[in-house]
Formats: sequence, structure tokens, C-alpha cells
Amino acid sequence: MHLARVRDLISQRALSFLEKQEHGLLIDGKWQPAEGGATFTTIDPSNEECVGTIASAGAVDVDRALRSAKAALDFGPWSRMRPVERQKLMLRLADLIEANADTLAQLESIDSGKSVAMARAVDIALSIDFFRYMAGWTTKIEGTTSEHSVPYALQAEMVHFTRREPVGVVAAIVPWNFPLLTAAWKLGPALAAGCTVVLKPAEQTPLTALFLGDLILEAGFPAGVVNIVTGDGMNTGARLVAHPLVNKVSFTGSTEVGKRIGHASVENMTRFTLELGGKSPVIVLDDCDPAKAGAGAASAIFFNQGQVCCAGSRLYVPKKDFDNVVGEIVQIAEAMKVGSGLDPVATINPLVTHEHMQRVMNYIDIGLSGGARLATGGERAASLGYFVQPTVLVDVDHDHRVVNEEIFGPVLVAMPYDDLDDVIAKANDSPYGLGASIWSNDLARVHQLIPKIQAGTVWVNCHSMLDPSMPFGGFKQSGIGRDMGKASLDAYLETKSVMMMLG
Ligand code: NAD
Repeated sequence: MHLARVRDLISQRALSFLEKQEHGLLIDGKWQPAEGGATFTTIDPSNEECVGTIASAGAVDVDRALRSAKAALDFGPWSRMRPVERQKLMLRLADLIEANADTLAQLESIDSGKSVAMARAVDIALSIDFFRYMAGWTTKIEGTTSEHSVPYALQAEMVHFTRREPVGVVAAIVPWNFPLLTAAWKLGPALAAGCTVVLKPAEQTPLTALFLGDLILEAGFPAGVVNIVTGDGMNTGARLVAHPLVNKVSFTGSTEVGKRIGHASVENMTRFTLELGGKSPVIVLDDCDPAKAGAGAASAIFFNQGQVCCAGSRLYVPKKDFDNVVGEIVQIAEAMKVGSGLDPVATINPLVTHEHMQRVMNYIDIGLSGGARLATGGERAASLGYFVQPTVLVDVDHDHRVVNEEIFGPVLVAMPYDDLDDVIAKANDSPYGLGASIWSNDLARVHQLIPKIQAGTVWVNCHSMLDPSMPFGGFKQSGIGRDMGKASLDAYLETKSVMMMLG
């Protein structure tokens, strides 16, 4: 392990965690190596150095983790706990995350590349708040009662009620762009509902999920309630999804893998929710100050290096304001300081892996060879580390691949428009429908536009804002179901109807 560069920048607890020889799998309350001892490594994308050796779970490990989750669900102390007891455990976990927030932010930064300050303010803060928000729901899960109306038993005395019961064993599969936060989005409602979980972090960013495993044990969750299996999609993830002991799959990741997971889930009638990709439009109206629109559009695309499912990656600006707004974004992009996530003054950090950086660079080439012009950026930003310059492409046809496909990097496609109806049609002319933002203070027009936009979230004069109580998810190929909010809890519960004849 080459920790010399980070040693003085991180907490003692983060350092001790990184100095472990190998990070095991959390199965049945114990850390253990994978069967056969298989491992993989995780890399700091700012300097390309290994920062962890991680157990790689195969079929035997996945099976053991699921059997443990099933036993905890059916027979363990968790199965007998009252909602208020689950709530206490969840609140204790939120407190432990808060007490270790700096350490978690540092590990997230080293593993994924993102800014430590951003990780602390967004990923970790939202994870804490979300566990607390969901802990509150444990004691508010309710069924209904109703007077009976069975037509062929109207004289009988009957009692009818519904029960909400945990859906069962949950396989939670998460991506690398918001590793801890996405894990929290799955664990929060699953634990509130009384489910048990096998969590699979992304192979690129396993560290914070593993640290969270220690906190879950420290909080006192019974063995088997949360198991963590690390590994890649084929070896670990696909085996998890196909296993008959899984009652629900909760997946966040690409649309391509999401479709595969949906097909595999239907095979066993496993319930599933899918949070997938996006190509979210940013629509500026003609009353908006160009400087404000430019600053908003820049943060909508460059936040987390554009590796955000709801990143504002398509910008539509009235023709009269186009040069001013794009000029503002170019100025912001060119003032951004490239550096490691641990560098407090760096504002653009590395992408997650070499492979992903090449994918983003390839999209820039595709754009340029298809006739687009660079307003700024377009190059790798350093020879060591996976840095890409914040990039703005202009002069692009609307049917070009860079307008329609998710690039998932700091690459904005900016387009002028004349007619608002036409721009709404263009904004909706996408297989995706995750997010959109409108920039205007003309409330009448904003309210007229909101119902016309096909997206799971519409932001007005902001972008990528998240609140634990607001459901988040996609229309169209951006997914099925919602994370966050009460809506997410419903996806971890089954409804049982009880019809009882008296006497
Ligand atoms: P990905 O789909 O490649 O991988 C996501 C997870 O799925 C990883 O843990 C991976 O190991 C696992 N996986 C891969 N193949 C699998 C298989 N066949 N069976 C089971 N598991 C498998 O996605 P990624 O590249 O890690 O993440 C980026 C994508 O995630 C982007 O498309 C982004 O838009 C999307 N995303 C969506 C949301 C949302 O809430 N809608 C949030 C964050 C990211």
C-alpha cells in the first residue's frame, strides 16, 4: 500500500483502516476472507496507487451471506424486534456515521476521487439525515381496516384489515459515484421495514461500505441483518440477483445493467426497483439573468466531475442569451483548479477509473468528429491521475450521440433555441427521464412547463438538490420505483389482506 501521500491528510482511524492487509466480507456478523482467498484491489484515482486489497465474493460467499440474511429475517432477534427497537438501532448508526463523518469523507475521497469537502457536505451529511429520516418511519408503518362487503356473506360478521410486512431478504447493489449515500438509500428503508440485507458495493469504490460494516456491528445490529459482499458485477452481483433466497433487488447503476437485472429478477418473481442513468436537460428561459443561468448550468454539470445520474448535461438557452450564458460557463470552467479530492483548493477532481476516463475522452472525440466545436476543455488535465478538463461542446445537432447518450463526465452540450414548445419537445426527446431544471422567475410559465417535462424530478432555479423526504427516481429508461421519501419504504413492504369471520 502506498499511503505516504495521504498519511498527513487523513484521520488516524482512516489511516488504520487503509493499513489493513485485506478487507474481508461481512457475513453473519463476522469479517471473513472469500472462499478460496480471491481478492481485487482498489485504486486512488488521483495518483493511480493501490489503497486496498479487497475480498472478492464468489458463489459460495454469496450463498452464505444470503442464508445468514434469511436466518436473521426468520429466526434471529431482528425478527422479534419491535419497530421502536429497530428505530433505536438506526438512530445509533446515524450517530456513529456522524461521529466518523470526517473519516468517511476522507475514505470516499481517496477511493472515488471526489472532493473531501463535498463528500462531507453532501454524501455523508445526506446519509446521516437519511438514516434518521427513515428511522422515524419504523414506528409509522400502518395497515388499514375496512367494513366488509362480501356480496355472498352480507349476514356474516367479519373483520377486515391489512398488514404491511417486510418484503424479505434484500439484495442491494450500488454504483461508484455516490457509494455511501446510495448504500444508505437502500439500507434505510430496508431496515425500517424490518428486512435483512446483502449489500454489494461497486468494485471501484468498496471502502466506505466496508467501514459502514464496522459501524453497523458497533451499533449493535444482530448478526446477519446486514451482510456485505464485495466483488464485480459478473462474479458477485449477477449471482446475488439470480439467487432464489432474494426477495427484492434494489439496484442503482447503468440502464444497460439495470435491464439485465430486471430480466433476471422476473425469473424468480423477485421484486425489483431500478435507479438508472440520465441525460438531464437544463432549460433557461428568456427572463433569466445570463450570469445566474451560467453559474447554475456550470454547477449542474461539473458537480462530482459530472459523474451524477441527474447531471445537467444538455443545456438549452434562448438564442439571444446563448453567447453570454456559454461565455459565463467557459469562464467558470477555465477558473476551476484541478487536483486531488484531498486538496482543499481543488475544484475539479479525477474521474473514478482509467477506463471511465477513456470512455469520457472517447465521447469528446465522437462529438468533435461529428461536427461539434469545443467552447472549452476537451483534454486530459494531468498526466498522472484520471483528470479530464471541464468541457463544453457547442454547434451540435440534436440527434448527435453526445446529445442523446449518457457521458457521465464533466462534458456539457450547449444548444440555442428560438421556441419554447420546440425546446420542451427536444428536452423530452430522450430515452431517459431522471431530472430537469428550469431557470426562470416567471412563475406562470414555470408552472405551465412543469407538467410537460417527462422527468422524475424538476428543479427550478437549482439542480441536483436532494432531500431525504423527496422521492428520487426516473421516468422512462431512467428506472422503475423511487429512492428516498416515504415512497421508497413502500417498495420494501408487502401488503397482506386478512379477512376474519367471527363465530
Ligand atoms: P454499473 O451498472 O456498471 O454498475 C452498478 C453496480 O452493478 C456495480 O456494483 C456493479 O458491480 C454491479 N453490476 C454490474 N453488472 C452486474 C450484473 N450483471 N448483475 C448484478 N450486478 C451487476 O454502473 P456504474 O458504472 O457503477 O454507475 C454509473 C451508472 O449509475 C450511471 O449510468 C448513472 O447514471 C447510474 N446512477 C443512477 C442513479 C439513480 O439514482 N438513478 C444514481 C447514481 C448512479
